[in-house]
Amino acid sequence: MLEDRVGSPCEMHSESWWIRLMDDDLTSGEREQWNQHLWGCEWCQREWAALSAADEVLEMAAVAMPPLAIMPLSAAFTEATVARVVRKQRFQRLVTYVAGAFIIGLVAWVVVTLLGATYSALLSYISAVLSARHIVFQSLLQTSVGLLLSWKVALPYLVGGTLALYLVLMPHGVLVTAALFWLSRRRLSAAVAVGV
Ligand SMILES: [Zn+2]
Repeated sequence: MLEDRVGSPCEMHSESWWIRLMDDDLTSGEREQWNQHLWGCEWCQREWAALSAADEVLEMAAVAMPPLAIMPLSAAFTEATVARVVRKQRFQRLVTYVAGAFIIGLVAWVVVTLLGATYSALLSYISAVLSARHIVFQSLLQTSVGLLLSWKVALPYLVGGTLALYLVLMPHGVLVTAALFWLSRRRLSAAVAVGV
């Protein structure tokens, strides 16, 4: 009698039965009866399908959007504010970096330009001095070699030239004075020697 009442379609179509069904609160015998009834009852199949679909949708929604459901409004606002402040700080840092890089680049350009001009001028001066010295050294070397090769031929000219140079350039120079002094002393000493 009780089993008939419990297992009857009337009982299974009641709200309390479906609440126990959803809470998984049925005994194993009741569940077996329920499965048999479900297999044959079109109304319960429709209800069961609709409930399952709703349950799936609810589960999916719960899985897909837990932060929105859980996060309080103040937390969301705080996060947005923090994000805005971080963005602002990043922008300011970027501006600082760009301005610093521009200033460094400008200073570097000015320094390189000035140094480059000075460096190129210095380089041309050094190269000019070096080439001049090279030319002078080369000509001196050639002359010296030529003189050494024909020193016997060049010696009278060299001595004569040197003397003429001394006389022309320093008529009252130190060397001429010294030479005259030396000559006069030699003459004097010779006279003394003769006198003695
Ligand atoms: Zn039914």
